[in-house]
Amino acid sequence: MISIKSEREIELLRIAGNVVYQTHCYLKPFVKAGITTKELDKLAEDFIRSRGCTPSFKGYEGFPSTLCTSINSEVVHGIPDNRKLKNGDIISIDIGACYKGYHGDSAWTYAVGEISDDAKYIMEHTEKSLFVGLKEIKPGAHIGDIGAAIEEYAEAHNLGVVKELVGHGVGTNVHEEPDVPNYGERGTGPILKEGMVIAVEPMLTLGSPEIVIWDNDWTIETEDYSLSAHYEHTVAVTKDGYKILTGGLNGKE
Ligand code: MG
Ligand code: MG
Repeated sequence: MISIKSEREIELLRIAGNVVYQTHCYLKPFVKAGITTKELDKLAEDFIRSRGCTPSFKGYEGFPSTLCTSINSEVVHGIPDNRKLKNGDIISIDIGACYKGYHGDSAWTYAVGEISDDAKYIMEHTEKSLFVGLKEIKPGAHIGDIGAAIEEYAEAHNLGVVKELVGHGVGTNVHEEPDVPNYGERGTGPILKEGMVIAVEPMLTLGSPEIVIWDNDWTIETEDYSLSAHYEHTVAVTKDGYKILTGGLNGKE
């Protein structure tokens, strides 16, 4: 069942989402050569708790950390550790925060110092593919419309779509129904209704879209070690479109 959120629930989801957005803004200046992902994780956890929230991912199905930090060819679910970021790296940071039982979920990929043209390309077009997907959202549209738009955009830019991982509904659980794939066919899948809240999160690759899972059972990496980027917003379906919940409070981001 896909739940329809009340106005009050959407307000709580927006507060949680805004804390996720603020955490991204807070972390960004720290994403530099020399910092470890564990240090970023501590900064994020302290910040989220200082805002009256709890980290959504810590303890979720046994995940050990506040952030998912995925470097270069790592796609998602990287566990913060003692590795230092290096000039030229790209790092996808996925953040979840819970406010009064309601979650926000948003990922962004960051450049560490000067990055290659390939890295710039995968970042730019994965971010654009997120907004191409979001544009499809309105009451009466199908979930498949979102994935089809992202897949078409990725194919037009010669990028791979990771298919094993998908977006999802968001509410009192960080992962709810429905699945929101980054591929699909228009006119298929559940129909969107006002009050649904979903996270759209394209994960694109510069090479093969095939993935492998590390022995830690979490970190997912491209099979051919090609670069990957990940951008995600949690959004509410509105009367005539969608509203980003994991942005600033003026709703413009
Ligand atoms: Mg996420
Ligand atoms: Mg998500």
